[in-house]
Amino acid sequence: MIRWLVRRMMMISCSGRRFHPGSRGLFIIMLMMAWFCGCKDASQWEGQEQVKRVSTQTVPIQLQYRGTFDLGKGLFVSNEFEGARLNGAARTNDTLITLLITPENTPVNNSPWYAFKIWSEKACGLYVHITYPEGVTHRYFPKMSRDGLNWTPLDSSRCFSTMKTTEKGEVVPVDLTFQLTIDRDTSWISAQELLTSLQLERWIRHLETRPYVSDTIIGKSHEGRAIQLLKIGTGDDQKMIMIFSRQHPPEVTGYLAMQTFVETISADSELAKNFRNEFTAYVVPVINPDGVYHGHWRHNGGGVDLNRDWANLNQPETRAIRDFMSQKTVATGGKFYFGIDFHSTQEDIYYTIPPEMEGNMPGLVPAMIRATTGELDGYEPNIKPNSPDEPRITSTSYFFFEYGAEAVTYEVGDNTSRVFIRRKAEVSAIKLMELMLQRTSRHQTDIK
Ligand SMILES: [Zn+2]
Repeated sequence: MIRWLVRRMMMISCSGRRFHPGSRGLFIIMLMMAWFCGCKDASQWEGQEQVKRVSTQTVPIQLQYRGTFDLGKGLFVSNEFEGARLNGAARTNDTLITLLITPENTPVNNSPWYAFKIWSEKACGLYVHITYPEGVTHRYFPKMSRDGLNWTPLDSSRCFSTMKTTEKGEVVPVDLTFQLTIDRDTSWISAQELLTSLQLERWIRHLETRPYVSDTIIGKSHEGRAIQLLKIGTGDDQKMIMIFSRQHPPEVTGYLAMQTFVETISADSELAKNFRNEFTAYVVPVINPDGVYHGHWRHNGGGVDLNRDWANLNQPETRAIRDFMSQKTVATGGKFYFGIDFHSTQEDIYYTIPPEMEGNMPGLVPAMIRATTGELDGYEPNIKPNSPDEPRITSTSYFFFEYGAEAVTYEVGDNTSRVFIRRKAEVSAIKLMELMLQRTSRHQTDIK
């Protein structure tokens, strides 16, 4: 009966083909193929289209109702926690519930960021159908947790998507249905691991057990949340680097990479000690705390994509960072040599400054990527330099064109193995520190 219902539902809503993956790997591969079928080269993704200038004036957003949905017969779902969205829940029949996930405002990037808690007074199996507004495609493979902290991907043989052919001829998944067994204890389901303000505070407190790490608040978000800045190092701020993350709330894999990158720079190794004697690292781990809190798909509390606001600086979050960086260079006469901004997308890719443009440490970013690649067996980096005529509205442009900092947008795939995310970020930080120290000592030798 259950299978018939799901099959029936999929047939009704499916204008393309039905899809029933046999394994999670196959499921992910098929999703990738569906997404990337417009790409010319199947071996390497071409990345996103060039960024476009958009208004970054504040616009209204739609906050979600937070509460517990009583779906009858002892079944409950809830979104009473930080991060991600659940915008509606209804019981379709005895064994099927339908959930609605909507964005904070539109137009918005395709990042349907869902999470919910679910429990039942009586242990039972049921199907969960996650739906999105027209035009949105399913993106994140669901993870389950019993405590909201430790996450495991669902069994893909129990997950189904309705595939639809778009006007461009692309075959895309437009929803998600999965089978779940629940009981009185809460189960959490989320698009990606939930990493919110609680985990951020714990992480900062942990880093601050080291005497050379401190944190400060450099401004307030649209809704008044603190924008926290970590300082790593005890130097005189003559040579600085900037590290950003979480302009876009669902981009958890980028955040994981940022954490390892920062932990490596904060480590007790000889290399990291030497680095911290020369360079100070400043880190803004969550640039968009309102978006992370509310579970926005992309935007801040002002309904704006912050990574399009680095020219106009209309939003309090970007202005806080502008004020900090300009104050640093004016007050100390110091320079920013490097800037990195961590994000997530379909697969790992680096967006870089056009290679012919030179900043304060020419060639640093390509050298870091080359050196990192040399340490990772079988890894082929995907590097996409920005076009020289691209609008200078992203953080990477801001680092480079305002401060001469060699800059990179470090994108991590949504489904990249968490172990590999950590490994690559660790190697990247090691190679960056080695290269920056080599170049500093070479420079000092030159001027003697
Ligand atoms: Zn992003």
